[in-house]
Amino acid sequence: METTKKKIKIKKGDMVTVLTGKKQDRGKIGKVLRVYPKKGRILVEGINIAKKSMKADPQKNKQGGIQHEEMPLHISNVKIYCSKCNKPVKIKMKFSTDGKRKFRICNKCGEILDKTK
Ligand SMILES: [Zn+2]
Repeated sequence: METTKKKIKIKKGDMVTVLTGKKQDRGKIGKVLRVYPKKGRILVEGINIAKKSMKADPQKNKQGGIQHEEMPLHISNVKIYCSKCNKPVKIKMKFSTDGKRKFRICNKCGEILDKTK
């Protein structure tokens, strides 16, 4: 059974796999560019691309045409991707030995997903 309220902590820079969404995006892996915590949405590199038609503006010397831009997608549409397992995985939390830090680790292989800066 799946619970409806998932506590997925996705951060900027994470790699995620798209589970649901536009046909062309499903199964794709992308890097999280931005997180909108209040909306529960994230912006993922190369995913959920929207075409925007731009009007030509001769005064600003702008050419008209179609621009591609990533649109935010809902957090529930993605899953954290583990590069070691090579697939989307569940994450779990682990405390550092001194108990001061919390890490997100892969539920399968135990890889730490929070890269130290
Ligand atoms: Zn893993």
